[in-house]
Amino acid sequence: MEPPRCVESTDIQEAENEIPAAGHPARSVPPELVEKMVYDALVWSSLHGLVVGDRRAQSSGSVPGVGLVHAPFALLPMPFPKSYWRQACELAPIFNELVDRVSLDADFLQNSLSRTKKVDGFTSRLLDIHSKMLEIKKTEDIRLGLHRSDYMMDAETNLLLQIEFNTISSSFPGLSSLVSELHRNLLNKYGNDLGLDSKRVPGNTAISRFAEALAKAWNEYNNSSAIVMVVVQSEERNMYDQHWLCAVLKEIHGITSIRKTLSEIDVQGQVLPDGTLIIDGQAVAVIYFRAGYSPNDYPSEAEWSARVLMEKSSAIKCPSISYHLVGTKKIQQELAKPNVLERFLDNEDDIAKVRKCFAGLWSLDDTDAVKSAMEKPDLFVLKPQREGGGNNIYGDTVRETLIKLQKKGTEELAAYILMQRIFPTASLAFLVREGIWHLDNAISELGIYGAYLRNKDKVIMNDQCGYLMRTKVSSSNEGGVAAGFAVLDSIYLT
Ligand code: ADP
Ligand code: MG
Ligand code: MG
Repeated sequence: MEPPRCVESTDIQEAENEIPAAGHPARSVPPELVEKMVYDALVWSSLHGLVVGDRRAQSSGSVPGVGLVHAPFALLPMPFPKSYWRQACELAPIFNELVDRVSLDADFLQNSLSRTKKVDGFTSRLLDIHSKMLEIKKTEDIRLGLHRSDYMMDAETNLLLQIEFNTISSSFPGLSSLVSELHRNLLNKYGNDLGLDSKRVPGNTAISRFAEALAKAWNEYNNSSAIVMVVVQSEERNMYDQHWLCAVLKEIHGITSIRKTLSEIDVQGQVLPDGTLIIDGQAVAVIYFRAGYSPNDYPSEAEWSARVLMEKSSAIKCPSISYHLVGTKKIQQELAKPNVLERFLDNEDDIAKVRKCFAGLWSLDDTDAVKSAMEKPDLFVLKPQREGGGNNIYGDTVRETLIKLQKKGTEELAAYILMQRIFPTASLAFLVREGIWHLDNAISELGIYGAYLRNKDKVIMNDQCGYLMRTKVSSSNEGGVAAGFAVLDSIYLT
């Protein structure tokens, strides 16, 4: 293996000048030590499956074991205040419950999204499925949510503010658990040199808890020969994150899973008169979606018909169409309106806690908000109803897009929401990608996983389930790891 190469950012000096001397560990690590740690981290990642498909290698997204590269990671865990960490963890079960309550209010979902439906074809198709299920009076007694609520620390207000709440395909439960282990391992070895204590990196239970939630759901379905079906994209370079979950599901819980694309499900899937979903001759207990959140996942009617088939079945859908819709940016914005949380949550403390983490969110029929965004576009993010990173609009493009949309007619505005832009404090971080490290000014986004499982009135699981820290150079707008903007990280409690 080649030794890691170092690429110095050209503007470190400039970056350092901007940074308050908060004693961040990255400031004082001698380059020889960085080289040694990077080397060890690369070996550790390779030996422990902290890997993704290499975009430079053919078939790395379809054939496991071919064209692997370590997942991009931060060399050292990011300092993060314990009180904010606790706050984020405490929010997880409240948001889980909120999602469940909102999912049951079909009118709220349909009405909130009715104007978006007219101008956003993808959301419209999802709503059609939702309507269809209402028509046939489909109910979901067993409901499973594997969620991730994402936050950034706003530097100006010192508030932990929510970026978004993911109800479909919350990624990286597998790899994030590994990054925390990697960091603990490095600090066990080099902690004395760095003045850091590995115990301050909280253990990350994302993978075991998500597997546990899937297993418990499988158990509620109560068919010992049924399997878990993972809905996947045909090309998926993040497949190892998914395989990790399935491996734990098998090894710890003895549950078999299979991977199918939407188009395969269309051809091979069948729903029996009693509602059982059959694929490859096997009954499916739980459908776990790691695809289906983007219009690209539905290139033809076949994929939509697979989605409808699954929704009609009695299999437990993670997520159901209702849970999926609750996770849209539009619903996030509607929930932030005055007196809306009160419709769904009873406990005043819970409502206050949730509201406290809401950033400014506006519909584009709010003319004052649109006017402000035109005047100061840098203070806003314009978001369409999309998932997976790389879809949001920032800076001057916010103004240009708003002008363009207004020309097309006010209806077009309903495809987007406006959000207050959050500015976290930047600090230096060693970012490692494709074997090369790079010291840069970086900002982080903390995701808290949450699992929710209920069967009728019985809540079987409602818990926070570990975390994902993503760190990106502060000059980058978007934050996706898979989309190539960020690296995986963990936290160092301060
Ligand atoms: P997606 O569902 O595509 O992940 P997000 O709402 O999470 O959409 O936005 C993608 C990324 O854009 C986030 O990970 C974050 O880095 C950045 N981002 C989103 N909203 C804001 C915001 N209000 N302020 C600053 N950055 C944001
Ligand atoms: Mg998302
Ligand atoms: Mg996101």
